[in-house]
Amino acid sequence: MDEDGANRERDRHMAGRPYILAETNWKTVEHTDYEVVVLPWGATEAHNYHLPYGTDNIQCDFIAAEAARRAWEREAKVAVLPTLPFGVNTGQVEIKLDISINPSTQLAVLKDIVEVLDHQGVPKLVIFNGHGGNDFRQMVRELWPRYEMFICTLEWYKWIDAGLFEEPGDHAGEMETSLMKVFAPDLVLPLSEAGEGRDRKFRIKALRDGPAWTQRDWLQTTADTGVGNPRPATAEKGQRCFDDVAAKCADFFVELAEADLDDLYE
Ligand SMILES: [Zn+2]
Repeated sequence: MDEDGANRERDRHMAGRPYILAETNWKTVEHTDYEVVVLPWGATEAHNYHLPYGTDNIQCDFIAAEAARRAWEREAKVAVLPTLPFGVNTGQVEIKLDISINPSTQLAVLKDIVEVLDHQGVPKLVIFNGHGGNDFRQMVRELWPRYEMFICTLEWYKWIDAGLFEEPGDHAGEMETSLMKVFAPDLVLPLSEAGEGRDRKFRIKALRDGPAWTQRDWLQTTADTGVGNPRPATAEKGQRCFDDVAAKCADFFVELAEADLDDLYE
């Protein structure tokens, strides 16, 4: 290879993944008709004693990126925006350095992002939710009549194959611990350091069993900020879960990218 060729080859490798906006550049973006933009949204919160505060964001980063990679290889023009790191954690304001934004603030931020993407003619947006305290469905309802852009939301953690785990857990349990052993093993403390992740249920039956709902006071609910036993977690389970969820999300991205917005109904 001559010197120019070597430079071109180096530039190609240095250009980053074209479906990860933070890694790519105007040279790529200007000439790419992105069909689907993905907005991952996480949270910054304690995850038992053994997982990092950034767990939800790290999971969003990896799963959205892998799903987009698979979709891109199938010709779907997908761009993943940087993960927004602060979520709705109003039940955890007593926990040191848990950060919480209000749902109304979240809507304001989302609306500004929707406004600019819609203005630029982006056809479709997926709000890629990685935190249980974030609830974008009502926001989609509010934004829906105001913008041309198609807006939807998905919660990747509702798409896992629960059969992969003894008990996936709600927060820093077997599922999240298994995934983090894949995504950031250096940031996971040995499980001997983890709390049991045992939670106290509501005494009132309808709150405990589901038909009535309020959010949990996290300090009352758990001793170690975790909900779900992390002990059975393994990297092997995490890898299988990752592959499965990324494949499902990729299928969705491809189908959405190909979809005719004027013909969405059977
Ligand atoms: Zn989490």
